Amino acid sequence: MQRLGKNVGSYLGETIDVHAVLRDIDTAAAFHGWTKEPFYDTGEFRLFGLHRTPDPTPQAPDAKVYVSAGIHGDEPAGPLAIRRLLEQNDWPANLELWLCPCMNPVGFQLNSRTNARGVDLNRGYLNPVAEEVLAHIAWLERQPPFDLCLMLHEDWESHGFYLYEQNPDGKPSFAEAMIEAVEKVCPIDRSELIDGRPAKGGILRPNIKPQDRPDWPEALYLISHKTRQSYTLEAPSDFPLPLRVNALVSAVNTALKRLPVR
Ligand SMILES: [Zn+2]
Repeated sequence: MQRLGKNVGSYLGETIDVHAVLRDIDTAAAFHGWTKEPFYDTGEFRLFGLHRTPDPTPQAPDAKVYVSAGIHGDEPAGPLAIRRLLEQNDWPANLELWLCPCMNPVGFQLNSRTNARGVDLNRGYLNPVAEEVLAHIAWLERQPPFDLCLMLHEDWESHGFYLYEQNPDGKPSFAEAMIEAVEKVCPIDRSELIDGRPAKGGILRPNIKPQDRPDWPEALYLISHKTRQSYTLEAPSDFPLPLRVNALVSAVNTALKRLPVR
């Protein structure tokens, strides 16, 4: 499959009606018994987290998992993947789950990576200033530690799907299984250098010391404070949108179905 060639200098593909997507997410979450906790009001939108306990409750979950999407407003596949996952409601019953479906709804109205003030929210998690990030961190601080964190993103320049792994304790990796599953529905970027970092078979395992980086993305906050294993999933946004949604959904389902790792 060839790239569409639409993205010249930025993402120029399909956009979404973010109000409609958030309404669908609300409807599916309420229907399937998720608890919704709003944590920030932009004026037009409310940022929120969703929470689901193991089924049947009460029982101790086998693993606690956090999934976030939509922090970059020019990456529509993430919120659409969350909507699909909520509507399919095929979550492993033994997991406790937290979702932040759309961290930058205003960005989607603008088809912009940043928020309305031009701030890349995903660079502000070390010394947070943006109100969205401050509210998100305050919400995260109220949640327990997570066994696994998944962040859904897109890359307008990439030749296929790829992912970043943060796994400082060398736990059994989900990376290869996710790539293998995604390969069935979406090309994989097998470049040896992606985003300026060495990559192998669509997997980046950068040796990042969080203290050396001033511009923390959400992933570095999470690996420093909330989890010991995380994946940033990057769908290739120069391919058709349905294919990118399939890629993210497939990766998430693959990781969740392999939990817990004893
Ligand atoms: Zn992104």
